[in-house]
Amino acid sequence: MKAGGASGPGPRRTPAIGPDGWLIGSAEDAPSTQGTVPEILRRPSPNHDQRPGDEEPYLLVIHNISLPPGVFTGDAVIDFFQNRLDIASHPWFENIRDMRVSAHFLIRRDGTIVQFVPTILRAWHAGVSSFEGRERCNDFSIGIELEGTDTLAYTDAQYARLDALAAAIRARHPIRAVQGHEHIAPGRKTDPGPSFDWGRFEHTRGDHETTHHRHHPGRR
Ligand SMILES: [Zn+2]
Repeated sequence: MKAGGASGPGPRRTPAIGPDGWLIGSAEDAPSTQGTVPEILRRPSPNHDQRPGDEEPYLLVIHNISLPPGVFTGDAVIDFFQNRLDIASHPWFENIRDMRVSAHFLIRRDGTIVQFVPTILRAWHAGVSSFEGRERCNDFSIGIELEGTDTLAYTDAQYARLDALAAAIRARHPIRAVQGHEHIAPGRKTDPGPSFDWGRFEHTRGDHETTHHRHHPGRR
């Protein structure tokens, strides 16, 4: 059904989102086996609250993050989103001291999906932002972080899992647009950056969806 997707034989589980907004099959206590089989992990973050009016999210926001930037080993991003990061463990972490943020999802370099916040709740991922003239995108969006940087190509596993995760989200919520953080917070944010291949991702979009994404973000 989908070229380059995560389907086919093999140990990968196809993600689906349950009524509670968590990925089905995600386990809070499952040990990480990063580097072997891409997994679905649940790591609850306190950095969320209710969506105003319990509104259905209709926007997908793509981000990148790595802590410290460019380092993909260890669990610093997970610790950060859970307010457990040991600031003293790296000098760069002073830059994010006292920040209370989280996306709904993180896709690691090996394709592991980590969920922090149920999709029905408001995760604090976008900050000051605007889409179609409406501010506070957190109110009506779902945030997906790709472990990476603005300049280093994302992995094949990340694209495959992003396709599968986006399909699961669309099956549960009326998503009608996808934006990069850089597009809803221009001048303030640069992620996911030129390293993200929008054409590779968008070929899987439903025909009904519109995106106001610019392939030349500077024109925004
Ligand atoms: Zn971002």
